[in-house]
This record gives sequence, C-alpha cells and structure tokens, in this order.
Amino acid sequence: MFSLTQFPLQFDESALAPYMSVDTLNCHHGKHLATYIKNLNDLAANTKYADMPLDKIIIESATDENAKKIFNNAAQVFNHDFFFRCLTPNGGGAVPDEIANAFGGADKFRDEFKSAAAGVFGSGWAWVATDGNNLKIMTTANADTPMAHGMRAILALDVWEHAYYLDYQNRRADFIDAFLNHMVNWNFVIENLKYGK
Ligand code: MN
Repeated sequence: MFSLTQFPLQFDESALAPYMSVDTLNCHHGKHLATYIKNLNDLAANTKYADMPLDKIIIESATDENAKKIFNNAAQVFNHDFFFRCLTPNGGGAVPDEIANAFGGADKFRDEFKSAAAGVFGSGWAWVATDGNNLKIMTTANADTPMAHGMRAILALDVWEHAYYLDYQNRRADFIDAFLNHMVNWNFVIENLKYGK
C-alpha cells in the first residue's frame, strides 16, 4: 500500500542559520512537509493513486477534477523535498556556467530569477526548469509544479510566506538574496542538469 515517510534533511536544522533559522526549518520541514506527506497517504489510500510512484500521482491527478486535494498534497511533497535538496550550508556563490550561459550571464540569471521569485503574488514557487531543450525560469502558484506542465525541475525556491516569514517577515527580496548568496546548493543543480536540458 502507498505510504510515504518523511524525507530526511540533508543537513542539521541549525546548519543554515542565520539565513534560515532552526525555527523555520523545524516548522517548514518538520511540520509543513510532514503534514503534506500524511495528507497524501490518507487521501491516496484505497484509490487508484495508492500504487503509483509520486511523479505519476502528480501527473495523473493534475488533470483529474476529482483529485485536486491529492494533486495539491502530492505536488507539495515533491516541491518541498526538491526545495530542501536545493539548500546546503555554505551554499550560494558564483552561478555555475551551465546556468549562467543559458540566461545570458550570471547577473542576468540572478536578476531574472529574483524578479520572478519576488513577483509571485501570494503563495507559490520560483523555478529553473527544462522542457527537454531549453532551461527556463518559471513560477507556479500554490502547489503547482513544473512536472504538471511537461517540465522537469532543475532548481526550486519556495516563496510561500511560511518559507521566510519567521526570519525575514515581509522582506521576501532579502530571503531571495540570502538563498542565492548563501544557501543554494549549486552541486545539486548541476547534478540535475546531467539528465539533460
Ligand atoms: Mn513550503
């Protein structure tokens, strides 16, 4: 039977401070993600989704009018697990050439990504994703995810208020800067690029 368990963090809860506090990680990873996992397990039980892997649940439920709750929780499980893998202690720094070159240079990438992430109205996500040929910066609202649009995630930033409010209050732009300057796990991003653009 379908049953996901909590995805472990790849680092200690205190390892991203002061850019992301223990309180934020405890709440965001320990409570929000855990709740999405529990909800998905409960909702998928005894449905056709119960035997599917997570990516198949997301793609199938995205077009199923009767499975909106399953989609929202499944997509949020994927989004969060992927986002937490995009974070690392002592991260950030120089934008890798593979990303910079795709966007006309490191500064242009940073500007475009920051503008996209800052421009998400309400809750959502900023991404670098690929359609198989080209890297693109995209945003999604609420739980929505690139996979539901035929895209594959390369980099994710959660810009729901729960991702930054304890540490930055309303200063989302400061959180985006801290992500790019101190937390983003470029090694993980480069690994994702190895599957092709
Ligand atoms: Mn979140």
